[in-house]
Order: sequence, then structure tokens, then C-alpha cells
Amino acid sequence: MPLTRAPLVDPFGRDISYLRISVTDRCDFRCVYCMSEDMAFLPKRDLLTLEEIDRVATAFVSRGTRKLRITGGEPLVRREIMNLFRSLSRHLTSGALDELTLTTNGSQLSRYAQELADCGVRRVNVSLDTLDPEKFRKITRWGDLSKVLAGIEAARTAGLRVKINAVALKGVNEDEIEGLMQWAHGLGMDLTLIEVMPLGEIEPARLDQFLPLSVVRARLMDRYTLVDDPYRTGGPARYVKVAETGGLVGFITPMTHNFCESCNRVRLTCTGTLYMCLGQEDAADLRAPIRASADDALLYRAMEEAISRKPKGHDFVIDRRRPRAAVGRHMSVTGG
Ligand code: SAM
Repeated sequence: MPLTRAPLVDPFGRDISYLRISVTDRCDFRCVYCMSEDMAFLPKRDLLTLEEIDRVATAFVSRGTRKLRITGGEPLVRREIMNLFRSLSRHLTSGALDELTLTTNGSQLSRYAQELADCGVRRVNVSLDTLDPEKFRKITRWGDLSKVLAGIEAARTAGLRVKINAVALKGVNEDEIEGLMQWAHGLGMDLTLIEVMPLGEIEPARLDQFLPLSVVRARLMDRYTLVDDPYRTGGPARYVKVAETGGLVGFITPMTHNFCESCNRVRLTCTGTLYMCLGQEDAADLRAPIRASADDALLYRAMEEAISRKPKGHDFVIDRRRPRAAVGRHMSVTGG
């Protein structure tokens, strides 16, 4: 029977056009809201090889995926990761893919920025929650701010558009958001703010970290003119233009506003598990079908079956009655 190459559409009529791939669960930082200090990592033998990741990504591209985001863990600490970028770039050249991009903590960008640009990467998201070196060290436990700033500079020099992602943390960086915005916009970079989500068990209490972006937005509006902007990257952020700086601020509000209605995304972990929703436990194994046969028929069937189970949305709650994580896995597993 010929393989059907129809685009993947979920039961709610949403086209699945965006695949996020976590290429490793390892990271050279231990951000306090993301990981516990003594994380147990997966044995290397459980990981998909880079060739297997390419195969799954390519299957998604042939079924309508237009955007690939490489993430982790820290994607740039996976060995030989540039081989994956190089091979996936053929889908940009062929026109099958609109965008190949990554989310990184920036620590390795100085080394890889030019190569990423050469592979057709045009934009990178760099996660950075503070510009204060001491605070940076406290949040990341292990990170060095100067390396990240050098990485951002290298990316800009290589011609990559950089967007800064910052998680809004109560009592930690809430007094710095305006400063981060001024800095980012001054360098022509947009800033996206993210609400902390209850993913995985960590040492600090989530309720202590959670800062609703409605509060941040109201504070910015006291001092700036925020104008709703139609700009979209295909992701969950909603943007405003700041009249005084000319830059954009994005808000990702999984907690205070459910962003599921237009969800076009699925997430592949480094072991080949496909999560149809960031905030639900249901998943599909794609590693078994690719290892069972060199032909993609089984893989396509597993992908179709998975998408037919994509849930309508998630329901995160952080309050005193529900102190535990909404889902057990950390963001570093599913891929942020
Ligand atoms: N290492 C890369 C980085 O730092 O961007 C990619 C992976 S990281 C898990 C992706 C993003 O998820 C980062 O911006 C991080 O701040 C964010 N993140 C991690 N845990 C989170 C949580 N519990 N709630 C909200 N954002 C989280």
C-alpha cells in the first residue's frame, strides 16, 4: 500500500506543523526552577542517535512540519550536534522547511554561532533571566554570565537574530525585567517572558517562584506604552510593541492564560518519546518503530496514532492545595 503523505492534523483540527526536539537531557547549568541539583541523567545507550533523530524529524517534515526547534537539556553540549544541524539544513535548501532554530543557554554559542548560521539557522532563542553575574550564578547554580554574553555577541556577529527568553521569578528577577528589556531592545533583540511552570520536582517551592505575567505587564504599562502586535513566530508567545524602545516583548502565559487553542506543536525527547502536550503525561514511543524497520511505514503509523490522541490542552495549577508538579518530568526532558 502506498504511504500517505498527508499533513498531520489532530482531532481538534489543528495542523501539526512544529516539532521541538530535545537532543539531550543533560545541561551545563542547573537552573533552580528547571532542575534539581542532583539530577539523574539517562544512560547514553537509551538516546536516539543523531541519525535516528534526523530520520524522525525528516518523517515529520514529509508530513507537514514546517518548523524544527532543537532544544534540550542544553542542545549545544551534545557531542557532534553540528552534524544534525548540517544534515537537517537540507530541508531548508529544498524548501520543505521554513525554519530550523534552537533554544540554548548561550554557554557554547561563541564556539558554534558561525556554524549554525552556515547551516541556515537564522534565529536563536537564548535563555537569560538576569544581567547580574551573582544572581546569574545563583539561578543557574553553575553558569558564568560573561560566557553567555560573549555567546550572544558571537551570534549577533554571525548575523543570527537573537531573542532573549527570561522566566519571570518572584523576588528574584522581577525588579530587573525593565532593565533586561532596555538592554535587549538596545541591542535590537526582542525579549520574551515566561511564567514558571510546574514541571518536575525541584527543591524550591513553585509557589514561591511563581510571578504572574499579568502583574509584570501591568508594571510595564505604568512606564511604557505597550501596543498589541500581530507578530508571531509559530510559538505560544503573544507580543506587544513597546513604543518607547521600538522593540517587542513576548508573553508566554501557560499559567494565567491557557495558550492551547492554537497549539501546533509536538515534542520529541532524546529517547524517541513523543509528547503531544507539554503539560500532560500521555506519550508515544517512536524509537521502537524506527528500530523495528528501516522502512518508515511503522513510524508513520505511530506518528498518526500519536497525533490522533493529542489532547485539547493542559491545566497547570500552582497553589497550596497542589504543591506537587503537574507532570513528573522536568522541562529538560520534554524540551523547553
Ligand atoms: N538549555 C536550553 C536553554 O537554556 O534555553 C534549552 C532547554 S531549557 C529547558 C528551555 C527553556 O525552558 C529555558 O528558557 C528555561 O528557562 C525554560 N524552563 C525550564 N524549566 C521551566 C519551568 N519549570 N517553567 C518555565 N520555564 C522553564
